[in-house]
Amino acid sequence: MTDYVFTTRQGALILLQLRFNTRKNIIIRTQLSGRLQLSIPRRFTQNALDQWLSDHETLLEQYWQRQQQLLSTQPETIWFKGQCYPYVVSPVCVKVGWYGDRGFVLPLAMDKERPYRDLISWLQEEAQDYLLERLRYWSQQLNLRPVSMKLTTARTLWGVCRPQTGIRLNWRLVGAPLWVVDYVCIHELCHLIHLNHGAAFWQLVNRHTPHTQTARMWLKQHGSALFIPEKRW
Ligand SMILES: [Zn+2]
Repeated sequence: MTDYVFTTRQGALILLQLRFNTRKNIIIRTQLSGRLQLSIPRRFTQNALDQWLSDHETLLEQYWQRQQQLLSTQPETIWFKGQCYPYVVSPVCVKVGWYGDRGFVLPLAMDKERPYRDLISWLQEEAQDYLLERLRYWSQQLNLRPVSMKLTTARTLWGVCRPQTGIRLNWRLVGAPLWVVDYVCIHELCHLIHLNHGAAFWQLVNRHTPHTQTARMWLKQHGSALFIPEKRW
């Protein structure tokens, strides 16, 4: 990956992160790192890239604006195990704490990013127990054993199951209620039998959870709130 700065005809700067891949087309993504991500075919030359950028300047500007909006909305609440909690910064507290209904307390630090980073690591650690324990539980219940069970930091999925690599659950599901987590675990485990999303697959999922529809709705409704940025800028 390389960083790249594109200057528009008006002289505005657009910060890009280039990712080379084997696809044939170019994909633009907004992301929380403060840069637009551009996936481009590996065979693209510098000239071809510059040409493409200037041909698609308006489109890039639209994405860039959306990117800026994304960064200006920072969470003041955090979803944790299905509940939405406020978080406050305290001068006396030394490490991130969770005070039940009162929410999260973050220490006041010289380094402004620090408490927030600590909160993210705290949540990721909680996610290890909360999510993987549940996945192991359902793996036993259904008698389906993936080759491995881990968490992922991916931005585009809640879970993934591949016969060769096993199951990965998104750590951000730590914000979801247990019955939603259960649904995702069951969904991924059932992929060990059916790799597709055909009728037989859904039949199997529904045999083990009554929450398929409501869980999918919940994720649609609250999913983006669970995707709190890993860094603040
Ligand atoms: Zn699936």
